[in-house]
Amino acid sequence: MSDDEVLYCINHPNVETRLRCSKCGNPICPKCAVQTPVGFRCPQCVRSQQAIFYTATPLDYGVATVVGLVISTVAAFILGQVGIFLVIILGPVAGGVIAEVVRWAIRRRRGHWIWLVVSGCIVVGALIAALYPLWRLLFAPRPVAYLPPLFRLDLIIYVALAVGTAYARLR
Ligand SMILES: [Zn+2]
Ligand SMILES: [Zn+2]
Repeated sequence: MSDDEVLYCINHPNVETRLRCSKCGNPICPKCAVQTPVGFRCPQCVRSQQAIFYTATPLDYGVATVVGLVISTVAAFILGQVGIFLVIILGPVAGGVIAEVVRWAIRRRRGHWIWLVVSGCIVVGALIAALYPLWRLLFAPRPVAYLPPLFRLDLIIYVALAVGTAYARLR
C-alpha cells in the first residue's frame, strides 16, 4: 500500500482520507475516526468492542442483586459488632470481598451498572443491620428493656468505605 494512495471514507464516500481503522483497516475520515489507546478506530469497531466489553445479561443483574444483598447483610452485621476503629480497617476489605464475590457469581462478565447494584446492596445491608433492633422490639416475646441506638456512625463509615472500594473494583 503506498502512502499517497487516495482513500475514501467508508461512511462518507465523497470524503478523501489517509486514515485507516487500526482494527478492520477500513478507510475513515477524521470526522469518523475515534481515538483509542490502540490508534484510530472506525465507529463500527468501537461499538463492537464495547459490546464485547459489557457482557452482563439481565440475569447477571438479578444474580448480582441477590448475592450482593446476602453477603452485604452478613458483612454489615459482622462489622456492626467490631467498633469504629476496626470498621475503618475492615470496611474497604469488606467492600473488596463483596465486589469479588459478585464478580465471581456473574462469572466476571462486566456490566455498566453492576457497581451501582452492589453499592445499593451494601447500603441496604447496612440499613438491615441498623434497623434490626427495631424488629426485635416489635417481635420479641418479652418487652426489650434497652433499645440500642439506631443511628450508627460505625455503619455509616462502613458504607462509605465499602462502597468506595466496590466502585473502584467494578466500575
Ligand atoms: Zn474498523
Ligand atoms: Zn467519514
